[in-house]
Parts: sequence; C-alpha cells; structure tokens
Amino acid sequence: MNDCIFCKIISGDIPSYVVYEDDDVKAFLDITQATPGHTLLVPKQHVTDIFEYDELLATKVFSKLPILARAIKAINPEIKGMNIINNNGRVAYQSVFHSHVHLIPRYSSSDEFK
Ligand code: 5GP
Ligand code: ZN
Repeated sequence: MNDCIFCKIISGDIPSYVVYEDDDVKAFLDITQATPGHTLLVPKQHVTDIFEYDELLATKVFSKLPILARAIKAINPEIKGMNIINNNGRVAYQSVFHSHVHLIPRYSSSDEFK
C-alpha cells in the first residue's frame, strides 16, 4: 500500500488545485501558500528525493520549470520574481518524501514569507 500523499494527489484520490499536468509531471498549488501562487512540481513516478533521480527523469521534471514559471508569472502581472526550491532530506527541511520543487512567486523584496 502506498501511503504517499503526493502519489494520492497525482492519482486524484486527494484533491488539489492543478496548475499543469502531462505524462511525466503534475504541478499543483501548495496547501500552505508561502506567497500567493506557491506551486509544487512533482514527478508522477514516486522518487523520494534528488538522490533517486536518473538523468532522464531529471530532464523530464526540471526541464518543465521555465515554462511553468512563465505560466505562473503570466497569470499575475504583480509577480516580479520567483524562488525555486528543492529540499532533499529531513536535514534540508524536506517534509513530504515524494520529490517536489517549490515555485514561490515574489511580489516585492519585502513579501511576507510564511
Ligand atoms: P517540503 O517541506 O517537503 O519541501 O514541502 C512539502 C510541501 O508540501 C509543504 O509546503 C506543504 O505545505 C505541502 N503539502 C503537504 N501536504 C499537502 C497536501 O495535502 N496538499 C498540498 N497541495 N500540499 C501539501
Ligand atoms: Zn509518492
């Protein structure tokens, strides 16, 4: 049995606000919005962290970042920048152990960052 919360979001068993989806990845809003539009990009294949990627999977996932970042920015002209963060391992503040990349829009350098 797979207890992974992001696998359940990928399968649709747990609802999410989907931003983008293709055969290899899904992107959905983070349940905790560090800033408005905070999005998570995840591989559909369950891998725990960056240490489990091979080059092909890395290409499939990380190559989507530019178009996803542009799409999020295009939705809201107030977005001036973006932090892209990938935490790997408990010591690096990873809390969900299905690899994911945070896209956190920035509106000004004084954004409240939750
Ligand atoms: P991490 O700390 O592992 O880098 O980030 C995990 C992220 O997953 C957190 O920002 C957290 O808010 C988000 N998250 C945890 N559970 C859920 C959920 O059920 N749905 C969504 N959309 N995001 C979640
Ligand atoms: Zn998973």
